[in-house]
Amino acid sequence: MASLAGRCMCGAVTWTYSGEVTRNLVCHCADCQRATSSPFTAFLGLRPGHLSWTGDIRHYESSPNTFRGFCPSCGTRLYFRSGKWPYEVHVHAATLTDPGDYRPDAQVVMRSRAKWLDQLPSIPVHDGFQQKPAVPAESL
Ligand SMILES: [Zn+2]
Ligand SMILES: [Zn+2]
Repeated sequence: MASLAGRCMCGAVTWTYSGEVTRNLVCHCADCQRATSSPFTAFLGLRPGHLSWTGDIRHYESSPNTFRGFCPSCGTRLYFRSGKWPYEVHVHAATLTDPGDYRPDAQVVMRSRAKWLDQLPSIPVHDGFQQKPAVPAESL
């Protein structure tokens, strides 16, 4: 049994959970890429009856009987739920209070995985940004 909590970026939506985690997966599907504006997303599979939300949540029906919830104030993506998985809600792991504690154990829908992810280990890294904000072009 896990005891977990999370929130959206602005804090208007929070969630708490105590129960079984049914999955810890990274999804590379094209719908998740588009919906989260990110190359992939990570989910926790949670039992709906043990999951509590506070705050106003909107959702978008991304395909028939499949819903993606988000905070209407800050736009943070909160969950995926679908009639295909009636006994679990997939909560975005990045909304965890401490997302660094998350440990995925599977990657799915690899056919649409962003090709450049393979290059990540060889791309230069920086503690902050690699350059200062751009200045007006005419001042150069
Ligand atoms: Zn919010
Ligand atoms: Zn997906």
